Amino acid sequence: MNVKETGMSTRALWAGEKEYLAFGATQVPVVHSVSFGYDDMDEWYQVAIGKKEGHIYGRNTNPTVRAFEEKIRILENAEASTSFSTGMAAISNTLGTLLQPGERVVSIKDTYGGTNKIFTEFLPKQHIEVVLCETGNHDEMEKEIEKGCSVVYLETPTNPTVKITDIKRITRAAKRAGAITVVDNTFATPVNQQPLSLGADLVIHSATKFLGGHADALGGAVCGAKHLVEDIYHYREINGATLDPMAAYLLLRGMKTLSLRIDRQNENALAVASFLKTIDLVEDVYYPGLASHPGHDIAKKQMSGFGGMLSFSVKGGVETVRHLLPNLAFANRAANLGSVETVVGPSRTTSHVECTPEERAAMGIPEGLVRYSAGIEDIDDLINDLKHAFYMLPNHIKSTN
Ligand SMILES: *Cc1c(COP(=O)(O)O)cnc(C)c1O
Repeated sequence: MNVKETGMSTRALWAGEKEYLAFGATQVPVVHSVSFGYDDMDEWYQVAIGKKEGHIYGRNTNPTVRAFEEKIRILENAEASTSFSTGMAAISNTLGTLLQPGERVVSIKDTYGGTNKIFTEFLPKQHIEVVLCETGNHDEMEKEIEKGCSVVYLETPTNPTVKITDIKRITRAAKRAGAITVVDNTFATPVNQQPLSLGADLVIHSATKFLGGHADALGGAVCGAKHLVEDIYHYREINGATLDPMAAYLLLRGMKTLSLRIDRQNENALAVASFLKTIDLVEDVYYPGLASHPGHDIAKKQMSGFGGMLSFSVKGGVETVRHLLPNLAFANRAANLGSVETVVGPSRTTSHVECTPEERAAMGIPEGLVRYSAGIEDIDDLINDLKHAFYMLPNHIKSTN
């Protein structure tokens, strides 16, 4: 039976590993070797020119790293894949490969903070025109794409207000314009959303988040059509943002439980979002799994689960957040997300720390917004922890809000 015909849990465990096992070990080894030696000069040459499978130098390829690339490739149902030292390296190397001076890229205002910096700070310096549309305004996006562009860059759900873009609709417009569509699938993971099957050309991951799932290794990946991935790989092998074999091993190990974790995180996030809706001090709850979320209908169409990420705003803004978050016993107050432990943080400190309060307001990010990455804890404990955290707020906050 082919692993490509299996369910996500089986696939997350078995995909991509067999070829890289050694000495009868059942687990992929961490190959800490900068280079790979050859006694046969002809064989060495054949590998070096890519005519024969094998490894030459660690900046290019490594067996542990290859196993990681294979696993994510099979999970995303892609023809090819390559890897990077971080998610941002995956994004910058992909855009660096696909965009030339004078060209145009269409994206959304709500991309990940680092991605937004590439769009607003670095690409314009290379004379690349960047158009950032209102996230969720599909008409505006279609109009901008129609004017001509070489890349359409999407992220859905977004950070931190989990806005949704219709991947099928936008990739259709991109195809008409002859543009390549790239989707950052970090928040959804292949368990909840398969952008390639919805028409995207390339899928990007910050493997640092849900793929690894344990907040102990940085990494990135790009999956998609072979000719595109080969070009991006070439850019990366020369520019040098290589994934470290130890990180590849940690990510591989984390990915074995991806499907289990995501199922639980989907459930926990929905339960937490529904609970927060009942709290007086909570102003708004943002979660695509709630019928009240503006992207709910599209999310229902293109996602098989709504993900582990949500956010909520509290009455009293920063002052309430300052008192609320330290009260949580089972949450790390940190900038990462997608880990087995619940992680919380104010958006003004984490995802949008580079913006001014005015810029955040313009992006629809209230100062009292909290990003909540649901872990795999027992749901009753997460709810009770939140209940207790609100209960423990000082009276001046409870009475004035
Ligand atoms: C974290 C993140 C990135 C960047 O990944 P790093 O591994 O931190 O470089 C990109 N996109 C999204 C959606 C992210 O959450």
